[in-house]
Amino acid sequence: MTLMAQDWVRVGKVPFGKGVFARQDIPKGTIIGHVEGQVIDDPGYATSYCIDLGGSFSLEPRAPFRFLNHCCTPNSCLCIQDVVYEDGTPAPAEVTIEALCDIPKGTEVRIDYRWSATGAIKCLCGSPACRGWVVAEEELPQLTKSKKRNTKQVC
Ligand SMILES: [Zn+2]
Repeated sequence: MTLMAQDWVRVGKVPFGKGVFARQDIPKGTIIGHVEGQVIDDPGYATSYCIDLGGSFSLEPRAPFRFLNHCCTPNSCLCIQDVVYEDGTPAPAEVTIEALCDIPKGTEVRIDYRWSATGAIKCLCGSPACRGWVVAEEELPQLTKSKKRNTKQVC
């Protein structure tokens, strides 16, 4: 029997909105579910929930995974699988959520959003290893780089 997303997780309240919680113990490596939603073919598309599928495709996820929150030390990850049509043309990628470690029942399931530095916001995930920003690790230096100012008096 294959367990579906609704067997593994439920949507619950967190202080700043909603989150996804383990409904039962989730063993490491479990595919918690497929992220279903509307695929949008528009390179300029950006919302706070959308997942970049590569190329011009974005996925606007439906619940429950719409409510996955970010953590700098996540217990789950997004897996994006490239898909092609029978004739070899690229189809919108498929997205699954996979458990990176054993997730005890009742724990919030969180992923690392890995945003680019241009979209980064301050992170409040509370992890001891918090990067301070919701941003991909390799883009972090762009945000924390110290700036030098050279003030010229112009009037
Ligand atoms: Zn953080």
